Amino acid sequence: MHYVHFSKPALVQSLMNGFEAFVVKHGNKKRHAIEFYGLLFGHTEETSRTVHHHVDFVSIDSSADMNGGWVQNNEDATFLKEQFAYGAGYDFLGSIHTHPYLSQEMTLPEARTSGSHFSDSDLQNFHEQFSEDSFFGRPFSVHAVLAIRNKDDESERQRIERDGYLEPNIFEFSLANCKCFLKAQVFSCKNGVLKREDTSLKSDYLEKFGYLEGSFGSVKLVDGKQRIVEHVA
Ligand SMILES: [Zn+2]
Repeated sequence: MHYVHFSKPALVQSLMNGFEAFVVKHGNKKRHAIEFYGLLFGHTEETSRTVHHHVDFVSIDSSADMNGGWVQNNEDATFLKEQFAYGAGYDFLGSIHTHPYLSQEMTLPEARTSGSHFSDSDLQNFHEQFSEDSFFGRPFSVHAVLAIRNKDDESERQRIERDGYLEPNIFEFSLANCKCFLKAQVFSCKNGVLKREDTSLKSDYLEKFGYLEGSFGSVKLVDGKQRIVEHVA
């Protein structure tokens, strides 16, 4: 059994960058709600029957090609950061990216059932990062996806009753007027075949619902613009 522990700094870094990519205009992109890509760093502890992957912090890739519907990381950034982290005593564990959905693009139940999972191209990318069944010299990789969907409909006003674990490795939570889903999955590669390992996600900050104490304003569509949102304090 594998446990992925998201520290509070790692979670807050992911949320900050996830919402920045959701709400703030980037360069000359024609829409908001684009995906970010970052790397997970931390350390691993093993017992005889469990492996604990501790995500201490997240490094967001400023060189990633960020778009609505897809993000492409830059391999040079991965190799550079992996070596930098190793020198500083951290393990390179894997990656995180977002799945941002505007309310008119995907219903909340769809976001809950399919949006919070990895796409086929995500899985292909995770597979390609293994070299001879080794992920940067390690037997496992850890990948996470943070799905964010705003709720601007009267009928969808902030409701937190579904907050909590959807599955052992997916946690649903509410921030501002958005629903978020954090999924973490450990992978191995055996004889060239990508394998999902049994994974549990752990985060004290999420499990204690500490995020509900913050005030984040709300995110809404700009009048007359289908793909542009704004943050209202
Ligand atoms: Zn994805």
